[in-house]
Amino acid sequence: MLALSLQMVKDRLLALVGGEPKLMNLIIGGLRRAWFRSPSRLSVLYNVRSEEETVNKDGSIGKRKAVWFSCQICNTKCKGQRSSLHPYIQIDHIDPIIPVDSQLKSWDELIQRIFVDVEGLQAICNICHNKKTQEENALRRAYRKAHK
Ligand SMILES: [Zn+2]
Repeated sequence: MLALSLQMVKDRLLALVGGEPKLMNLIIGGLRRAWFRSPSRLSVLYNVRSEEETVNKDGSIGKRKAVWFSCQICNTKCKGQRSSLHPYIQIDHIDPIIPVDSQLKSWDELIQRIFVDVEGLQAICNICHNKKTQEENALRRAYRKAHK
């Protein structure tokens, strides 16, 4: 997720805005909001969206339909919002925003890596996403260890 991976490079980004944490956080917050509304992200999300009829307690068909999103890796049906009862869908950067084999060099690079086309994104459940993030973090640690 954007929030987690950004944590790893905040020192680097801070240096790139002249050591102004308030400014850095303002820019990161703005980028995050722009990312959530980005056409690529919304398009990937809507491609895995489906609606299902709901059944009321008395057996009749409910007025509102249930909305589900399916994971592009394991095919699990997910909620659109964070949930403790169900897996939920997240839009993942296939090539992670924070590279696994190099340092982030500039804000330009960060922006280019966030705002990619639909081909660079996938809709996956939080479980698959956590697994992928852990694998990426292991690669980052190995890279840092090898380049000390
Ligand atoms: Zn999954």
